[in-house]
Amino acid sequence: MTASLLESAIPGVQGLRPYAPGKPLSELEREYGITDAVKLASNENPLGPSKSVLDALQCGYHELARYPDGNGFELKSALAERHDVKAEWITLGNGSNDVLEMVARAFLSPQSSAVFSAHAFAVYPIVTQAIGARSRVAAAHNGRRGPLFGHDLDAMHAQIDADTRVVFIANPNNPTGTWLPHNALRSFIESVPAEVVVVIDEAYFEYVDEEDYPDTSQWVDEFPNLLVTRTFSKAYGLASLRIGYGVSQPILADVLNRVRQPFNVNSFAQLAARAALDDREHLARAVEINRQGMAQLTKGFDELTLPYIPSAGNFISVDVGRDPGTVYEALLHEGVIVRPVDNYGMPGYLRVSIGLEDENRRCLEALGKVLA
Ligand SMILES: *Cc1c(COP(=O)(O)O)cnc(C)c1O
Repeated sequence: MTASLLESAIPGVQGLRPYAPGKPLSELEREYGITDAVKLASNENPLGPSKSVLDALQCGYHELARYPDGNGFELKSALAERHDVKAEWITLGNGSNDVLEMVARAFLSPQSSAVFSAHAFAVYPIVTQAIGARSRVAAAHNGRRGPLFGHDLDAMHAQIDADTRVVFIANPNNPTGTWLPHNALRSFIESVPAEVVVVIDEAYFEYVDEEDYPDTSQWVDEFPNLLVTRTFSKAYGLASLRIGYGVSQPILADVLNRVRQPFNVNSFAQLAARAALDDREHLARAVEINRQGMAQLTKGFDELTLPYIPSAGNFISVDVGRDPGTVYEALLHEGVIVRPVDNYGMPGYLRVSIGLEDENRRCLEALGKVLA
């Protein structure tokens, strides 16, 4: 019975495997009986949300029985001001994943294709294949003319054909942590045909501390086919509430709005995001903790002589030099959850999210023990 219903699903869906999330702490505790585990597996903010977010959430309880504001007026206004655009340029999503899916639903079909890089964020192939569209995957850099595993924009350009309707670029990319500089990215966007939507996924924007790293939300007024996505899940510490957004010209936003679920962003998420946006101090603290944690982890990897891919995000992929599944399992027994990334075509690598100092130390100690 089950098999025949699977055969009834559209071919793209038949070939899909569900997204594999980081193991929740509660699951590790249930399965292994470990009580003081640390989770460095989903690029979450180890500081949690700001105090002003917790205060703002109190207001949400009074409105629990009401549908949320389907147009997200207050939050869109605040975001529009932040990006120096009008509110019609903002599309709110139930996480930025939701916006990526709207793009796929609105622009892809079994007759078209999406282009993205090898080792790119897992959601791009999922949303593409779920529609039955073709994925055209560009080979990544091999470390000679660009960072190892990094997006190769020439190779991506070569994958665009007459059927391509969407190009997905993560800047920086997860799980590689690699990023694209201003001029290269700008020339690429200029070179893409006008009927192809270019999505620049800036989920880790707030963490990047590179002089040549562009804020592409400032380019949308020049490119009608550009959509820039951001999220409150990472640096703002609101992963559980599911809230992200896109910035684009209003014609593109209008197309996305046609496929958007009517009340896709709940009231708590809208309240929390507004409060988070205003608390610049908390954001700065989160970024600083990340900078310190990155230094701590890379120093530790150096001492363990483990190669890693330099990362601009709040995570780092490290080459453990042997079957990463075994190392991952052994780390679980030490109460440390990280993320295997072999399904991203990076054999030998584990991705570690940057945590608080103690959590990073736990991870390094466990790695040292497991690899000894
Ligand atoms: C985490 C992540 C997202 C954000 O997902 P949300 O749905 O906003 O939680 C988007 N893109 C990339 C590359 C990510 O790593």
